[in-house]
Amino acid sequence: MRPFGDCALIVVAAGEGTRFGGRKQLARAGGKPLLVRTLEAFSSLPFAARILVLPADLAEGQGWETLSASHEVFRGIIPVCGGATRAQSVRSGLAQVPGGLPFAAVQDGARPLPPLTAAAEALELLAGDKELAGVAVCSPATDAIKRLDSGGRIVAHIPREGLIRAETPQMVRVEALRKALDGPGADQAPDDMKALELAGFTTAAVLHSGYNPKITHPGDIVLLEAWLKMNGEEQPPSAGEAASCPFSIGFGYDVHRFAPGRRLMLGGVEIESDVGLLGHSDADVLLHAVCDALLGAAGLGDIGHHFPNTDATWKDADSRVLLRESVRLIRNAGWAPAHLDISVVAERPKIAPHIEAMRGRLAEDTGLSGARIGLKATTNEGMGFIGRGEGIAAMATALLWRADG
Ligand code: MG
Repeated sequence: MRPFGDCALIVVAAGEGTRFGGRKQLARAGGKPLLVRTLEAFSSLPFAARILVLPADLAEGQGWETLSASHEVFRGIIPVCGGATRAQSVRSGLAQVPGGLPFAAVQDGARPLPPLTAAAEALELLAGDKELAGVAVCSPATDAIKRLDSGGRIVAHIPREGLIRAETPQMVRVEALRKALDGPGADQAPDDMKALELAGFTTAAVLHSGYNPKITHPGDIVLLEAWLKMNGEEQPPSAGEAASCPFSIGFGYDVHRFAPGRRLMLGGVEIESDVGLLGHSDADVLLHAVCDALLGAAGLGDIGHHFPNTDATWKDADSRVLLRESVRLIRNAGWAPAHLDISVVAERPKIAPHIEAMRGRLAEDTGLSGARIGLKATTNEGMGFIGRGEGIAAMATALLWRADG
């Protein structure tokens, strides 16, 4: 296979998926986003640069941080903001091709099964023939092709001989395509070969007979999944796939000892009591356990990491502020709370009369409905430090779901 060392890969995935009903590049097939499959398909080829054209909110800032952290395959990729048309998006990608690279492979982000042998042949053909400005991977037309008039009548039977379907990757000379995309009509060109032709360049095709679907409608995903299954490509989730699992679960545990002269805050509610809990903040042991469960589920460490007890900011802090900040952090990481389940272990005071008020505070701070918050209390049957009334412990589990598509 020809070395791809003088070729850049440009994957175009800036579409909003109008026909698909949403961003199809992020739709999953066999548990993996299409875009990830497309990039992984090319990972064995030693391209000199890998450029990914995305909608602006995914190409920059938090959007890119979240996306690129989700799969190993995004490492080393140059993200670029796309434009309103395919031509504009390809132009943005071309602008990032490092100087001196003569060739680029332009690939649709929603074509997850590119035929690599044909791609290599296309690059070989292009590099070996100075007359050519582009070579597309194509497949023979297999259906009988007709032309309809506006009244729905078949008015022409088009001989199939010589008819081919243009797919991707399309191998191009970088300078030629740059020039072509700046020319008239380029914005309406359905692909790069057409843009090159409009600018007077010559193009060619390499045919293959494999399955190289462009995912356009939701039903195409079903066919793709059937193909993946038939070809044994459904494997146990790798570490990378586990990172893209749509759910995550976390656990939190906290304990605080009683101290005289302190307010007793529990679940964001002040409970009348002759003793409170000792701590740097307001020592709301229940909310601390919830924060730890949320942060843990999102892989963001623990409450001590984000709100250290050496930081004067959190001295006597209202733990609801800590909870709201924890929710903000997990949301920034692409997660949203789906369920909380909490147990408080205390010999005193009685917790039951306050449970509904606590649930209300938790609902306000997490955005969950009350039905999604389990809250129970138990004693320790007189045993141990809790049984002796020295303090209160709380345990929480949090279920998160991926909210970033
Ligand atoms: Mg604590």
